[in-house]
Amino acid sequence: MRCERCVKACRNQAIYFKNSIRLVNYNKCKGCLNCVQVCPRNAIEVTSVVPQQVLTVKIDHEKCTMCKKCVDDKDNFCPNDLFFIGSVKKNGKVVEGIKFKFNEVNKCQGCLKCESLCPEKAIKPIQFKV
Ligand code: SF4
Ligand code: SF4
Repeated sequence: MRCERCVKACRNQAIYFKNSIRLVNYNKCKGCLNCVQVCPRNAIEVTSVVPQQVLTVKIDHEKCTMCKKCVDDKDNFCPNDLFFIGSVKKNGKVVEGIKFKFNEVNKCQGCLKCESLCPEKAIKPIQFKV
């Protein structure tokens, strides 16, 4: 319902809204669970994160040359097939680009193969750091 009670309850300013989506900065979150206490709809689900766990994977579309290794080389690239081709913004235009299957981030096993195998160093896994 976007009441933003969670935003106000967070002492570490770890919760913020971007494009109407609530996001958590895991570098700031201390796990106090104040947000869970104040949410009137019980909309916040707490899952455990461990040091070095991959929280998301960013792709630098300026560096990416669309070699498609990350989506085509299924045997050697991402063991969990977590990349796909979709619409991305590049230089202000919507073009075809590589995207990370954020909805399946829990499948990521943190092998960091994507980071080392992308020939353009365009893939950057973001890991949880304590
Ligand atoms: S491997 Fe790297 S350069 Fe090639 S398509 Fe994927 S992100 Fe782009
Ligand atoms: S870290 Fe490994 S499992 Fe996770 S997205 Fe990269 S290649 Fe796939």
